[in-house]
Amino acid sequence: MADLPAQAAQQVLRQLDRAFDNWWNPEHPAGPPIFKKRSNRLTLPLPGQAVKVRTLNHKWADVWLPKLGWIRFRLSRPLGGPARNVTVSRDGLGWHVAFGVATGAKPAPPNGLPGCGVDFGVACSAFVSTEMKPRLMPATLTPGERRRLLGLERRKARQIHWARRHNRGRYSKRVRRTIDQIAKLRARQARRRADFTHKLTTDLAKSHGWVGIEDLRVKHLTATAAGTGEQPGRNVKQKAGLNRGILDNAPAERRSQLAYKAASFGSELRLVLPAGTSQTCAACGIRDPASRPGCGRVFACTSCGQQAHADANAAKVIELIAAGQAVDSTRSRPHKTARPSSRMREPSERRVSAAPGNLPPEGGRGCQGVFGSSQRLVMSGLEIHGENRHCFTRDDQKYVCRS
Ligand SMILES: [Zn+2]
Repeated sequence: MADLPAQAAQQVLRQLDRAFDNWWNPEHPAGPPIFKKRSNRLTLPLPGQAVKVRTLNHKWADVWLPKLGWIRFRLSRPLGGPARNVTVSRDGLGWHVAFGVATGAKPAPPNGLPGCGVDFGVACSAFVSTEMKPRLMPATLTPGERRRLLGLERRKARQIHWARRHNRGRYSKRVRRTIDQIAKLRARQARRRADFTHKLTTDLAKSHGWVGIEDLRVKHLTATAAGTGEQPGRNVKQKAGLNRGILDNAPAERRSQLAYKAASFGSELRLVLPAGTSQTCAACGIRDPASRPGCGRVFACTSCGQQAHADANAAKVIELIAAGQAVDSTRSRPHKTARPSSRMREPSERRVSAAPGNLPPEGGRGCQGVFGSSQRLVMSGLEIHGENRHCFTRDDQKYVCRS
């Protein structure tokens, strides 16, 4: 603790306070605060007053951090306002500094463009109803990188097995190096995924008056099929692969990005119930599971005979449903109330005194669902001198909105 600046510890307490406030707030979708592992991503939050920034040119800037002094970093975009909070973090590729900035930006007026429906999938990453071809996400790892990742994972398993048998479970420097190399590959993969997600959501929000997507519960969608010891599930490996495919497309992140980008581009996010969108015909509107023979890539309507790409048909159906939905909502139906048996939940006067509907909704932890465009987070590469940390060859951007 003594190594850390005092403001960082104070900021953690402030964040914890906010987390409990959000959890107990019936209007807020946040779940209970969760414990973090020590091995979690290393982050250091600081209040804006503790930090100074001086811009050198359009590419580089210096940030003054307590106990560290001036540190040069790669400016990925202009700050656009005074920093309210600053987060220094580390991933497999190096250090980042992110600034929460009060920009005071208001939601843009409606842009008046036509709307569209989008079907997010695994084989077709995204199918826009107004387009003829799906938008495919490029592979996030090259074949060589995938081979290398597999080899590294095997090496790590071998080294950990050795450490358990011969070293009382203590990790050697070599296993730590293997873990670092895996983290590097995974961080690169995450950046490529984030790059595609940002480009896709920006384009969707910018060039459409409204965007209709399915209101998916990603957590339920990607539940494991493993079952229990007595009742093991079936096709567990296949389901795990499908889950990986779904999560590789970052559906929840796309949705939260669309929600705040729509506001800043004068567009609107419309969520539709996902039930039956892949079995309904876009031409005649009749829902029949038999229209998807073998759940393949072809949609063949059993009543009117329309044949189309299954995802194209689903995107059209989503567009039709969303077109009839005039009001914008980031949540089309209320969440289920959370289980009251959580160990984390301590009885509080505030909670007891409020209405019975004030239990925090399940899912939607953190800031998901509540978006405003007055604050944004700017993230960029950071170079720490003296510690031999390299800086980045590519810019990295991340946007987080707070209520
Ligand atoms: Zn039909």
